[in-house]
Amino acid sequence: SQPEQTKRRVLLKLSGEVFGGGKLGVDPDTVRGVAKQIAAAVPAVEVAIVVGGGNFFRGAELSQSGMDRSRADYMGMLGTVMNCLALQDFLEQAGVETRVQSAITMGQVAEAYIPRRAIRHMEKGRVVIFGAGAGLPYFSTDTVAAQRALEVHADVVLMAKSGVDAVYTADPKKDPTAERLETLSYDDALRRDIRVMDQTAMTMCKDNKLSMVVFGMEGEGNVTRAIQGEKLGTLVSA
Ligand code: UDP
Repeated sequence: SQPEQTKRRVLLKLSGEVFGGGKLGVDPDTVRGVAKQIAAAVPAVEVAIVVGGGNFFRGAELSQSGMDRSRADYMGMLGTVMNCLALQDFLEQAGVETRVQSAITMGQVAEAYIPRRAIRHMEKGRVVIFGAGAGLPYFSTDTVAAQRALEVHADVVLMAKSGVDAVYTADPKKDPTAERLETLSYDDALRRDIRVMDQTAMTMCKDNKLSMVVFGMEGEGNVTRAIQGEKLGTLVSA
């Protein structure tokens, strides 16, 4: 049987844009900053991270330029692994023990995805970084964030966003009447087509009553504060 989980356990989703600093590839200074913020919250909180890859490739975009969708998606997944390694490096420099687990087997650079082992790592104070998405084309890393959070029994999914600090009723940069939401239900998000994460991911969170916090990366110490459970951004729940 599972030992009782006493610490707060979070699943942090970092999209590719967090790694690239808005550009293609990895911006080391940006990743170092995020890693320091995560390090400040560990080991008081158990942290697992799902890493996106949009700073390298998005399968859907490559397929619009004529590539086979599945092959393009595999390129996308491989991109996430490079982000994982960059984050691993800066976390270790910040004094945090880490393990990368990849959904596509590549023994030289990462462990295989083994959920029970991931839980053990967290219990020992290690940060677990999940790469290569689900290992399946046609999925997104948002959906993987929801799935991994459920499988490792995380208390909450933390969606770190760049350039926006919460969920709004409309795009605050385009619509001055856009309202900032403190809370939101998955039903409302789905009904009003508010894209805080993709619909598959939201449905999975809704069906399994997994809450999510959507917050902005930009505020001082925001990543640390979100991990520690401070009230930030928008709380989305079932
Ligand atoms: N991807 C995939 N299956 C997965 C996760 C990701 O095929 O389970 C591919 C997909 O092509 C996606 C790319 O990897 O566009 C990068 O992931 P994502 O777009 O979710 O990254 P983010 O938007 O978070 O940067």
